[in-house]
Amino acid sequence: MFDTMHRRPLAGLVAAGLFALTAAGSTSALAADPAPNDGLNATYWTQRAVEFKANAYGLYKLAELRLDQALADNSWTALPGEQASGYESLPTAVILDLDETVMDNSGYQAWTVKSGNGFSSKTWTAYVNTETSGAVPGSLEFIKYAQSKGVAIFYVSNRKDIEEKATIANLKSLGYPVADDGSNVLVRGEKEEWKKSAKSPRRMAVGATHRVLLNIGDNLGDFTDESDGTPDERLAVYKKHQDMWGKQWIMIANPTYGSWEGAAFGFNWKLSDGEKRQMKLDKLDAWKGPE
Ligand SMILES: [Mg+2]
Repeated sequence: MFDTMHRRPLAGLVAAGLFALTAAGSTSALAADPAPNDGLNATYWTQRAVEFKANAYGLYKLAELRLDQALADNSWTALPGEQASGYESLPTAVILDLDETVMDNSGYQAWTVKSGNGFSSKTWTAYVNTETSGAVPGSLEFIKYAQSKGVAIFYVSNRKDIEEKATIANLKSLGYPVADDGSNVLVRGEKEEWKKSAKSPRRMAVGATHRVLLNIGDNLGDFTDESDGTPDERLAVYKKHQDMWGKQWIMIANPTYGSWEGAAFGFNWKLSDGEKRQMKLDKLDAWKGPE
């Protein structure tokens, strides 16, 4: 009896809603499901989930502890094999990647998800020029902490030289320390030897003048140039540097994009979304399901 009473007004509302849509000449707004997009969950997580914020914030709090440890041990370096000899007596520095390490570009990612467009350098540069990137939780506090200890800050980013001016303005508006001449922002193509996305020449440039205490990024390539292999090869690289993670090297979670994704389909970005999706599915280790 109660159910019958309860349902009646609901059914009436649904009927009224459908009528309204028909009368307005549109049935697409509510009748159709939104288009599926493989980036939705990851983008939603980084933009709206406190679980992401607490994760990033916690990692930067860990970085503060590691910084103190590193300052007390002059043999400590985040650049094994890339640090100049005699580095023990050099002034100290930290290296941070920018995108999804310091700068939050979830607004761009959300645009790709909502519009159905993939990444393109044209739309990316347009986004960069809006100077509206946000701050990854904990990054500003960490950088200010490092500065208070006399540690120099270097940003090593694969943003391009044509994007550097807007990037510096965006960083400054968020309160990040940037040298007036931009000399602590090392972007791709800024120098002839920095034309490639591989970051080791830029890390070594910092390592020539500073003892690098920590390296913070969101992508394997922020730490080593050996980031473009197969998933199994990348796993071997991860294991080779096992002692670095959470100490000299801090990895911020980025489920929205990265070399991890390209590795799933051999970095063949020209494949269709369906082909890429299939290659990811093929690489999942799955339970065979209930008997
Ligand atoms: Mg990044």
